[in-house]
Amino acid sequence: MKSKVFLISLLAAGTVATVSAQEKVLNLYSARHYQTDEALYANFTKQTGIKINRIEAKEDELLERIRNEGANSPADIFLTVDAARLAKADELGLFAPVKSKLLEERIPANLRSPDWFAFSTRARVIVANKAAVKAEDVQNYEDLANPKLKGKVCSRSGSHPYNISLMSALIAHIGEAKAEEWARGVVANFARTPKGGDTDQIKSVAAGECGVAVSNTYYLARLLRSEKPEDKRLMEQVTVIWPNQKSFGAHINISGGGMLKTAPHKESAVKFLEYLAGDDAQRYFADGNNEWPAVASVVVKNPALDAMGKFKADNLPVATLAKNAAAAQRIYDRAGWK
Ligand code: FE
Repeated sequence: MKSKVFLISLLAAGTVATVSAQEKVLNLYSARHYQTDEALYANFTKQTGIKINRIEAKEDELLERIRNEGANSPADIFLTVDAARLAKADELGLFAPVKSKLLEERIPANLRSPDWFAFSTRARVIVANKAAVKAEDVQNYEDLANPKLKGKVCSRSGSHPYNISLMSALIAHIGEAKAEEWARGVVANFARTPKGGDTDQIKSVAAGECGVAVSNTYYLARLLRSEKPEDKRLMEQVTVIWPNQKSFGAHINISGGGMLKTAPHKESAVKFLEYLAGDDAQRYFADGNNEWPAVASVVVKNPALDAMGKFKADNLPVATLAKNAAAAQRIYDRAGWK
């Protein structure tokens, strides 16, 4: 009798699992948390009838969670920022390759890998204090290592993915030896031990505590769009410089995502990735964080981004950033860029 009950409950459990796998559902693990994303997801459900269950947390927490859940993870899609983080997920073997004609047509080849796709881009630019540093002295990333800037350079940690990806790009363009020499030069110019995020660097540059720093564009755009008088004053103190316009262009990073190998709803997952490459979704996805759409034909009207002007972007494949990430971290460690 006992074994019969056991068998019945097993069958029942099996039935539930089958039903849930066919349900029109998508389990999304996202490190994005912008208010505009609500409309983005609601629109997907309206178009496809697929309901989105969303879990939002910090990038590294989500990665850890997916790893811990293993084969039983309910996650279908992992969305995050930075090529280095996507590379980490890829290295851990978490993604499944996605073959989609639509994605291949819409997302430029340098902004995708077989396993993940970029949906928006951001640039890493130089921010200088107008009074303390001459703009012509900091036109290139390489200039940050010039002894002229001794005691003037501020930075966030060398272990942060944004700086890892910047170093990965430098390795690709100038080689490991020169990239390490550069890192040592920048460290020798530090005004203080690395601390804080990009916005903290901008604030310190505006306050004159630092002469120059680098920042992602969306932090600057956020300050430029701010109505707060203190933010307006802050932005009046700084110059934003598009780096390396006469060589390889400003370093570009991405936000993006991929389908997980263990995804229980693979069909929904591919539909969602394709949806994110659509015109409306691209606009929402990028503009929600003051970024640029990955799909070239999509135009965003963003006064802050427009105010920063046109620029030459580095078109290095983001997969290369991912590939060089480990070497980049080793260089920062050897150079003492904490
Ligand atoms: Fe950020």
